Amino acid sequence: MHIYDDEVFQMACDQFKVIADYLEVDPNDRERLMFPKRAIAVTLPVHMDDGSTRTFQGYRVQHHLTLGPTKGGTRFAPSLSMGETAALAMWMSWKCALSNLPYGGAKGGVACDPSKLSRTELENVSRRYMQEMIPFVGPYTDIMGPDMGTNEQVMAWFMDTYSVYQGYSVGEIVTGKPVSIGGTEGRREATGRGVVYLVERAMDMLKLDPEKCTAIVQGFGNVGSVAALSLALKTGVKIVGLSDHTAAIYNAKGIDVKAAEQHVLKKGTLRAFMQDDHVDPNEMLTMKCDILAPCAVDRVITEHNAAKLQCRILAEGANGPTTPGADRILDQRWDEVFVIPDILCNAGGVIVSYFEWVQGLQSFLWTEMEVTDKLFRILEHSFSQVIRRAKEHKISHRTSAMAIGVERVMKAKKTRGLFP
Ligand code: GLU
Repeated sequence: MHIYDDEVFQMACDQFKVIADYLEVDPNDRERLMFPKRAIAVTLPVHMDDGSTRTFQGYRVQHHLTLGPTKGGTRFAPSLSMGETAALAMWMSWKCALSNLPYGGAKGGVACDPSKLSRTELENVSRRYMQEMIPFVGPYTDIMGPDMGTNEQVMAWFMDTYSVYQGYSVGEIVTGKPVSIGGTEGRREATGRGVVYLVERAMDMLKLDPEKCTAIVQGFGNVGSVAALSLALKTGVKIVGLSDHTAAIYNAKGIDVKAAEQHVLKKGTLRAFMQDDHVDPNEMLTMKCDILAPCAVDRVITEHNAAKLQCRILAEGANGPTTPGADRILDQRWDEVFVIPDILCNAGGVIVSYFEWVQGLQSFLWTEMEVTDKLFRILEHSFSQVIRRAKEHKISHRTSAMAIGVERVMKAKKTRGLFP
């Protein structure tokens, strides 16, 4: 068995092969570009509240080291595997390269369900994970950030653990930290804000009036909630569908997203919110709307539902929400569904992480306005490059975005050469 054996890794490889064929990448370079440079698996023994000791599996994959240190989030999820981590690291590489960030991609995490851990247990898992990773990470080697199941507090524990071992504060080891310990203004909102910025650009291109548009947002975590709130309150779009892992809600008259946020703050999930309007979570994706924003997990748009999507814009806030099978269908529907591919759509998070890292290394503090303005400039540049290439070469937005990323990594590898 291959260490990366996993459906998600296979999907990332299938996507890469499409790009490698389009770019006519030399067969000698394909595996070198595709396979991760390093993968680390660790076993974490952790004291639990009941006095027992439980072991958890932790992973970190560093995809390539060609453009600088590696960068990527840390995911705490029950089903996390080495293969999935590797796929996510590969996507981070193309994402960082598309945004011209001086990083290779990385991803890591722990196979655990953070909702079933007490705060002390979560802290123990977080600290032990970072402690096991100390030989492999560093501010110039591999910088961690948040991802599904982790948050600012977890980043603070990572930073503290790493710093205690070094004997001084090393803020630059993680991004997405609380502002009080060197995090940047605007990081928490960055991914959702980026999604909305790009949706607005797409609406503009398609000449859609935001006030007359409706949206369905799947996922109400850090990305989905900020995207839904900002679409509703800032852009003026009516949110007709909303979901998290416990409930999916659809109401053509509109959903009060602020009320949903308050509900989640109090109760933790959307389970008991607007119960009369609950629908099947899979069916929600194919319901009528102008903007569909999958902001939760991978592989939710598949060959089974891609033909049924009724949206005009597909804004991929999640990593890998659309399978290659679905892509083949969406390629046929290019004039009906405007796809904003994940590595462009959710790049806001890692872009502002890069700003946080730079500020940390230089002990600088930027204002939220500076951060957001710089974020939008980078997204604007990437968006226009992706659209231009797609038009000129008659390729999909995903192929265009990934090709820009892969090409940059490939050129850098060629320029640096192969040693010895
Ligand atoms: N988890 C984020 C992503 O998937 C980025 C993490 C980071 O800021 O490093 O893009």
